[in-house]
Amino acid sequence: MIHDIAIVGAGIAGASLAAAIGRDARVLLLEAEDQPGYHATGRSAAFWSETYGGPGIQPLTSASEAGLRAHDVLTPLGSLHIGRAEDAGAIDALLAAFADTPVALARVDPRDFVPGLRADWTLGVIEPSCAYIDVAALHLAYLGIVRRMGGAIVTRAGLIAAQRADGVWTIETEAGPYRARVLVNAAGAWADAVAARAGARPLGIAPYRRTMVQLRTDPASPPAMPHVKDIGGRFYFKPEAGGRLWLTPHDETPVEPGDAAADEMDVAIAIERFEGVVDWRVDAVERRWAGLRSFAPDRLPVYGFDRDVPGLFWCAGQGGFGIQTAPAAAALAASLLLGRSLPDWLAGVDPERYAPTRF
Ligand SMILES: Cc1cc2nc3c(=O)[nH]c(=O)nc-3n(C[C@H](O)[C@H](O)[C@H](O)COP(=O)(O)OP(=O)(O)OC[C@H]3O[C@@H](n4cnc5c(N)ncnc54)[C@H](O)[C@@H]3O)c2cc1C
Repeated sequence: MIHDIAIVGAGIAGASLAAAIGRDARVLLLEAEDQPGYHATGRSAAFWSETYGGPGIQPLTSASEAGLRAHDVLTPLGSLHIGRAEDAGAIDALLAAFADTPVALARVDPRDFVPGLRADWTLGVIEPSCAYIDVAALHLAYLGIVRRMGGAIVTRAGLIAAQRADGVWTIETEAGPYRARVLVNAAGAWADAVAARAGARPLGIAPYRRTMVQLRTDPASPPAMPHVKDIGGRFYFKPEAGGRLWLTPHDETPVEPGDAAADEMDVAIAIERFEGVVDWRVDAVERRWAGLRSFAPDRLPVYGFDRDVPGLFWCAGQGGFGIQTAPAAAALAASLLLGRSLPDWLAGVDPERYAPTRF
């Protein structure tokens, strides 16, 4: 059997794309691990923020809101960007960067939102639209759509090599050989390695480790508190169920693709930074984990056909924004793959901005 489209990687990128094209194409989703979502997708901080990633990501994030709501995976959270006196320029820059977008931002007194905030954190901007994402539910929903439409999902099927002849890829995997007309590279941190195995030039997509910790604190984090983000990019934290708190030191350590684990030094840095923000006591680090955020050299994702290798399509470099942009990114990639014009709801998205041919 020849599949129309084989997608390598069943994280949120591959799964959302497979769901978007499953009605129009015979789809094969190949995943190296036992379980889809084992890598970046299963390790995210699980929020949707239109400012996160900057103006280059915002069109995809904003356009994704309706798709995320359709899956009922958003819950109100809000995001508070905080700064000290020396951060005034960064606060101004944030407001200026989104002034011409539909994203609502307003200056506020951060003490009105965070109990026990230390006195030097005097500057605040509230982003009311920020929301929690139920990532597992979204990912499962996409995988369910793929199955219902007759797509095949094969785990423990790491791509070993792929060659194309007469318009058909022969794909050698750990689960055996497959054939497909188009090969999609949605391999997250392994995107460059998968490209090389298909005979393509890597684009320089590099994985960076990001650490998260779950804290038990005194006081417990109030459920009405927003996501709190340092305008200087040194931490963010958000309230979680049971009064817990998720915190990151916003680290970006370049690493090889692999099964990332939290480094104790990054955990210690996270707590030290947190204690410089609020006067709360950290009672326990209940969980710690790390995942890989993979960026192209210009930190924008890559959607489109390879410049040199026919039939090879990139769906990679989602960085720290692959969940919150998934519905729009999948629709964009589906349109490009199927040779269709973009749907009206993607009017604000410029495909050229994300094309692999920009490198
Ligand atoms: C700590 C952390 C916090 C984050 N927080 C957020 C957030 O709040 N909001 C947000 O939108 N984003 C967030 N992100 C980013 C988001 O998680 C990623 O952008 C997204 O998960 C990337 O999805 P993906 O499918 O490309 O990658 P992955 O989920 O890593 O999937 C790629 C898959 O490809 C498979 N694969 C690799 N090589 C092969 C091969 N040879 N053959 C077959 N399969 C292969 C891998 O096993 C993997 O399952 C966060 C990321 C991290 C690490």
